[in-house]
Amino acid sequence: MAPRRRGKPPRHFADLTAAERVASVEAMGEKAFRAKQLATHYFTHFTSDPEQMTDLPAATRAELATTLFPSLLRATRTLTADGGTTVKTLWHLFDEARVESVLMRYPHRSTLCVSSQAGCGMACPFCATGQLGLTRNLSTAEILEQVRAAMRSLAEGEIPGGPTRLNNLVFMGMGEPMANYKAVIEVVRTLVAEPPSGFGMSARNITVSTVGLVPAMRKLADEGIPVTLALSLHAPDDDLRSELVPINTRFGVDEALDAARAYFDATGRRVSIEYALIKDMNDHAWRADLLGKKLNARGRGWVHVNPIPLNPTPGSIWTASERSVEDEFVARLRGHGIPTTIRDTRGSDIDGACGQLAAEEEDE
Ligand code: SAH
Repeated sequence: MAPRRRGKPPRHFADLTAAERVASVEAMGEKAFRAKQLATHYFTHFTSDPEQMTDLPAATRAELATTLFPSLLRATRTLTADGGTTVKTLWHLFDEARVESVLMRYPHRSTLCVSSQAGCGMACPFCATGQLGLTRNLSTAEILEQVRAAMRSLAEGEIPGGPTRLNNLVFMGMGEPMANYKAVIEVVRTLVAEPPSGFGMSARNITVSTVGLVPAMRKLADEGIPVTLALSLHAPDDDLRSELVPINTRFGVDEALDAARAYFDATGRRVSIEYALIKDMNDHAWRADLLGKKLNARGRGWVHVNPIPLNPTPGSIWTASERSVEDEFVARLRGHGIPTTIRDTRGSDIDGACGQLAAEEEDE
């Protein structure tokens, strides 16, 4: 395998298709079945440590593992909340770019929030990541390594509550997943592939969240993988949405909602509308009514709304809506017949909640 591509992370086993895995093992003078052994270690036992691959001859082990499993992520800090059941990890990448992922364990499920880019180019003013600008896209393996680390941690019982499995994965960490389409769709394919080719997750338990990059949303609909799509709307009118989600000047509210509805038609998956409730900004009752109207204009039963009280970010003048205003917003939407559930804001005390990931180093 090519060692390091200029400016790009080293190529990793998890970047490869099944056929490429076999080819690279053979290129190293090994039998094809070694690829399956390696895949089993990686995707079933969540390990890339040669020491643990005792079904491979010792000499081959070291060579295969060091070539095919270069270290891509280095955990430099972990913060926990909720009695250890919420864990935010700061990762350094090969070029010292930084990203974060957040693992959340609930009584009956566990969810990982992964980053798809270092920083983000979408510049939403209420989002901490949006203030950083884009450093670069993550590679397929850099994203999958976040997943493997979480799966390993859960399997080994590192999270209070005993060993368990990862149930849900959300692309709601740093970055705009639809702006890193190629890597993200490869990640999705590998997440849903049956072990030992992939992690064997169910597509419906994977959520791709987007600011509304319409061409990519339409492409995703054609992939034939029914992941859940979340559209970060935050306002039902173009004037305000263009302020909150600047890409709205390219793909407006109606265009984004049409693409969301088309996603439902293609996949049968109910789309989530994300709506951060910002005090006196987008939380007016009339905006709830307008949103309900625009959603219903596109049919019934295809969408639900997930309002979330804004998580404050450093330097922002905005705060979360009052509780009574939030309740009224939800009641209005429900009045229009739109299923609406407030999203929880786990991890806000460790800056691990939605919109708070900024990959900050410890204070000097
Ligand atoms: N770029 C993608 C995914 C990352 S953010 C997207 O925008 O959808 C995941 C969700 O958190 C998005 O809905 C985003 O709008 C929301 N979010 C960002 N900043 C937030 C904040 N300060 N409080 C609450 N939600 C926020």
